[in-house]
Order: sequence, then C-alpha cells, then structure tokens
Amino acid sequence: MLEVTGTSVSNKSAETLNVLIVGAGFGGMYMLQKLREMGFRVKAVDRAKGVGGTWYWNRYPGARCDVVSLDYSYSFSDKIQQAWTWKEKYAAQPEILAYAEFVARELDLPKDIRFETDIVSMNFDDDTSCWHVTTGAGDLFIAQHVVMATGCLSTPKAPDIPGINDFRGEVYFTSRWPEKPVSFGGKNVGLIGTGSTGIQALPELAKQAGRMFVLQRTPSYTLPARNEPLDPGYMTQAKQNYAQRRAEAKNHQAGHLRATTDRKTFSMDEQERRQRFEDAWGRGGLDILGEFGDLLIDDKANEEIVRLVHEKIDTLVRNPETAAKLKPRSFPFAGRRICLDTDFYETFNRHNVELVDVTADPISHFDEKGVVTKSRRYDLDALVLAVGFDAMTGALLAIDIKGQGGRDLREKWASGPATYLGIAIEGFPNLYMITGPGSPSVLTNMVASIEQHVEWIADLLAHMRDTGQVRVEAEEAAETGWVKHNYEIAKDSLLMKANSWFLGANVPGKPRVFMPYAGGLVTYRKICEGIAAEGYSGFRFTDANHHEGGIKREFPVSEP
Ligand code: NAP
Repeated sequence: MLEVTGTSVSNKSAETLNVLIVGAGFGGMYMLQKLREMGFRVKAVDRAKGVGGTWYWNRYPGARCDVVSLDYSYSFSDKIQQAWTWKEKYAAQPEILAYAEFVARELDLPKDIRFETDIVSMNFDDDTSCWHVTTGAGDLFIAQHVVMATGCLSTPKAPDIPGINDFRGEVYFTSRWPEKPVSFGGKNVGLIGTGSTGIQALPELAKQAGRMFVLQRTPSYTLPARNEPLDPGYMTQAKQNYAQRRAEAKNHQAGHLRATTDRKTFSMDEQERRQRFEDAWGRGGLDILGEFGDLLIDDKANEEIVRLVHEKIDTLVRNPETAAKLKPRSFPFAGRRICLDTDFYETFNRHNVELVDVTADPISHFDEKGVVTKSRRYDLDALVLAVGFDAMTGALLAIDIKGQGGRDLREKWASGPATYLGIAIEGFPNLYMITGPGSPSVLTNMVASIEQHVEWIADLLAHMRDTGQVRVEAEEAAETGWVKHNYEIAKDSLLMKANSWFLGANVPGKPRVFMPYAGGLVTYRKICEGIAAEGYSGFRFTDANHHEGGIKREFPVSEP
C-alpha cells in the first residue's frame, strides 16, 4: 500500500499533474481553461456533480445574484460573452447555473474535471516540492502546484441551536438545497436567517407556505433590487459595447459598473437630498451609493441613509410592531454586506407571515415538533436554515493541509488567516488561493476578482516554467507586511463596526480578523502587477538545480 504522510491511500496508482485545481466553480473553471491553454497537465476536482460552485449548491427559491448579470460574467472570452444572452438584469440561480454549464460545454471543461470528489488532505513533500493530495475515496493526486478554488462562501455554518437534531420535520439548508423542487404547500414553515439569503428566500417561501414564521435575530439593511427582464434590444447593444463596459468595470474598485461621486451628503439641503435618495430608491439596486460619496465613510451621512431605510420600512410594512422589529439599529448601513431584495418588506403584509424577534424572545431549543422560544412554541412541518457560512477560511481549513516540514495550516491560522496578497501562504509552497482571505474578493464583483487572480497565478506559473523554478513560497516578512497593511486599511472603516462574517463573528469561536482586503480591486490589481513586475517581490523561488532534493523537474506539457 502506498503511504502518504499520515494518511493511508488506496493502492490505485497516483495521478501525476503539474497543477491540481480544487473546485469547479467560476474560479476553478477559468483556472482550468487558462492552464490547459498554456500546456500544463492540469485537472480540477469538485465535490458537486457539476460545475458552478455557489450556483450549483444554492438552489433555494429566490436565489439571485445582486451584481448585474452583464458584469457578473466572464470577460476573458469575447466568443462566450457574445454567445450568451442574459434574460434578467439580476440573474436568478437557474440562469447563472445554466451559464456556467454553457461555458463548461463551450470549453469542453468536464473532460478534465473529476466530479463528486472531495479533498480531505494535502501534504507537501519537501523532497520533490510536490503536493500529495488525497480524496475522500482514498485516491491520490501528486501535483507540483495546487490552486484552491474552493470559494469564499462554500462551507455552510453549523446551526448552533440546541436540540435542532431532535426536530422530526423537513429540514432544508439554503446552501445545500435539493435538486428536485420542494413543495411547502399549506405547511407551517420556519425560516431562520435574515441575511442576503433569507431575505431572498422569504418572499418565495411565503407564497407557498400555509404559515410562515420568520425567526429573526438581527435585521439586515436591504434595498429593492428592482430586477427586470433585459430587453433583447438592450442586450444586443450591450454586447456591441462589451469591450468598453469591461474596461470601465476594470476601473472600478468594486469590479463592476457603479456610479461614484465626490458629492457630500450635507452639501445640499434636506429636500434636495431626499429627492436624490427617493430617485435612487426608485431605480433600485446599489444606485443609492452613487448619490453621495461619503455615505460609507462619514457617520452622520450614514445616519441619513439609515433614516431613509427606517422610513421606507414604516411605509412598506403595515403592522407598526413588525416594522419596528425589522429596523436594523445595531450597526451602520453597509457595516454588514448590503442585501438586495424583491418584495421582502411587502411579504410581512401577507396574512400567513409572522415575524418572530428571537433577540427579544430567544430560541430555547428545538424539539421533535418545532421550535420553542422563551415565551412560546411554534409547531413546524418544515424548517429552512439560511444561517450563513464559515466564510473565507472554512473551505480551506476543512482540508487537513500540511505544508513545508509538516506545518499545519489549522495551527498557522489559529488566530486568523495570514496570507500574502490573499494568494499565497508562507510555509505552504506551490499553493495558491483564488480569492483567498487578504484579497478583495467578497467586497467586489466576484467574477472580476476571480479573473484577476486566475490571470496573475497563470502568469506566475508561466514565469516559473520559463525560468526553471520548481518551487515558490511567500516570504515571512512579505506576509506579515500584507497582514498589517490589510488591518491598516480596514481598521477605521464602517466594516469594522458590525459583527459580520467578514470578521468571522458569525461562527462561535472563530478568530475576529477582518478577512477581505478593503482597499479596492483597482488598487489591489496595481499592487499585484507591481509585485510581478519586480520579479515577484516577496516570493522566494527555488530552481531545479538548487532544489535540496537535487531533482530536475520540468513542466511537461500535455499531449495535444
Ligand atoms: P449571513 O449573512 O451570514 O446571514 C445569516 C443569518 O442567519 C443572519 O441573519 C444570522 O443572524 C442568522 N443566524 C445564524 N445563526 C443563527 C441562530 N443560531 N439563530 C438565529 N439566527 C441565526 O448568511 P447569508 O444570508 O447566507 O449570506 C452570506 C453571504 O452570501 C452574503 O452576505 C452574500 O455575500 C452572499 N450572498 C449573496 C447573494 C446575492 O448575490 N444576492 C445571495 C445570498 C448570499 P445574526 O445576524 O443575528 O447572526
């Protein structure tokens, strides 16, 4: 039997690769295509039965992207962007999954993806500078480089509620929604979670349920999406102007088109300001952020937008007690990720929907029939859990990753993730993360951030191939400097003023470290480009001739 450090693997022969990609969502798919085009022997694995990542798993009713579809799509292939026609301004999950499947077919990706395969351990072999990667089924990959395309919001958070396993009704996680349609017709349904996911799911669930109980712990700020079908004429015109649109999006710190302004909130009188807010609310989406440049910087300006949202809730929700409970008060607007909704507040006017404030009346436990709060019980036929994710680090730490000299990633990150650029980790050579902690990722249009990382990593591997390097690792000082820089940028921002998943605050026991890079994608891209131009400063390379193990390893190219 073949033995890999601490892990026994099956005696099936190991598959040897230049690069293994873990994950076949948007990041893994493009990385695979890019490296394959460059002639690397590369494969991807994914635990799902198909491509799409987030959009494969999050099939809950109402699931929709809140970046406009024209921007939340690959820009790397004009052929693909010309061939695909979006139907809605904000695409729903089925359309985005169909798009991912279309791209996969166009590029013939599935032939190099092993589906229904999860990775359980990864051990770096110092002698050969290769990763030994073991699957749950005991298969082994030996790859010189591993790219983690494991997603930022892919590991569901455990619902930390006493007795939840005693509940005998149907239980659905939004992040692991069944492929077959679920019927809630006439049932008593409980929903836990009022973040982006719960806010999208509720209006759809409430249309079916007999009675709907929304167990809300913390209300969120949500803005109307005002989604609409995309007129075919508009789409044709958008396709003609795609190159310009992509170039403009590239110049935006969020990686997608959004109005920006230097105008200050208090530079105009109350009436004029109000009119601007009203107009932006009417247009929907994140347009409101383009009205005044200081809304997310200045506390007083932020209070103005909080006031607007509170007033809108009073207008939209008929029951004043329910309206009062729905008003977020404990953190600033955008302190947590802003949600976009379709009829969220209006849904509380339905006769079958009840809001339960589980901060005022906390959940005591579940029993086999339903949920018991301090003062009442709610018998349920079905429970929908939209309780969020172990974000940014969860998927990486779910794998037992041992780097150089057996260094354990879980130990290294015990007090929070430390990375260089959110791409590399000191002590873990030849390992790369797409949109890892310490990169702009979740604060931007994910597809734009993914493309930037894929291309940067591909360039690094090309550089290594061209210069005969077999090993690259982040230097300790570079990583420490990057972690400090991240903190400096985030420390005074509104994002630090809420208990959010950005900070790991949603997972009990998780270290409180602000994980994404808050300096913006344009700034970040420039930093990455500068580092590459300096010959990858902050990285240490080892070439084949100076490798301690004395190996001469070349990058074989795949057979045509
Ligand atoms: P989330 O924002 O972390 O929200 C989780 C919700 O579950 C919160 O309301 C939380 O309440 C509640 N919760 C968790 N544990 C609970 C408990 N034990 N008892 C009561 N309530 C509990 O998760 P999410 O809604 O899945 O969204 C995560 C992220 O995914 C979003 O921020 C966004 O980045 C992404 N997303 C994007 C879209 C989109 O593009 N439209 C859609 C969905 C998700 P507390 O706040 O009190 O902890």
